[in-house]
Amino acid sequence: MPLVLVILGRQGSGKGTQAALLAERYGVIHISTGDMLRAAVAAGTELGLRAKAVMDAGDLVGDDIMIGIVDERLSSDDIQAHGVLLDGFPRTTAQADALAEILGGSGPDLAINLDVPIDEVTQRMLARGRGDDTTEAIDRRLALYEAETAPLLEWFEGRECLAVVDGLGTEDEVFARLTKVIDGL
Ligand code: AMP
Repeated sequence: MPLVLVILGRQGSGKGTQAALLAERYGVIHISTGDMLRAAVAAGTELGLRAKAVMDAGDLVGDDIMIGIVDERLSSDDIQAHGVLLDGFPRTTAQADALAEILGGSGPDLAINLDVPIDEVTQRMLARGRGDDTTEAIDRRLALYEAETAPLLEWFEGRECLAVVDGLGTEDEVFARLTKVIDGL
C-alpha cells in the first residue's frame, strides 16, 4: 500500500483539522473513525444505534467493531491507490495489533503524536461546544486517553515509527511542524 500515516493526540488537540490539511497536501485519504461513527449515528444505522450511547458517555466503542470498520474501509480501491491518514484509529494496542496485521505485519510509515497538554485541550473542547462535549464526557475521554491510548505511543516507538510534534501555536505553525516531519520520511 502507498503511504500509511497515523495521527494521534488527545481529543481537542487539533488533530482532525490538521489531518484534513495533511491529507490534502500528501494526496492520501483522510479516515476519521469519529466522523465515520457520527455519520452512522446521524444515518440511524445499526452501528450508529449501538455506538451512540457509548460515544455520549465518552467511552470507547469496542475493538471488534472498530477493527471491522477500519479493515473494510482500508481494503477499498481509493485507499489502496492513494494511501491513508488514519485519525482516531488505532486507539488501543489491540487496534494497533490489528492494523499491523491488516498492513501485512508492519506498522504504519509514521505515527505522529500531536502533543497538547490536558489543560489546554479541556479549554478548547468546552469552547467548541459539540453535543457530546459535556464536562463529564470530556473528563472521561481524557482519562481513557491516558489509560488506553498513551500506551500506543510505546507501541509505535517499539516499531521506530513514532514522531512527537508540539501542537501548541497557530494552525499554520503546527502544520509546518507536521509537514517537516513527514517530508523527512
Ligand atoms: P473522535 O472524533 O476521534 O474524538 O471520536 C469520537 C468518539 O468516537 C470517541 O469518543 C469514541 O467513543 C468513538 N471512537 C472513535 N474512534 C474510535 C476508536 N478507534 N476506538 C474506539 N472508539 C472510537
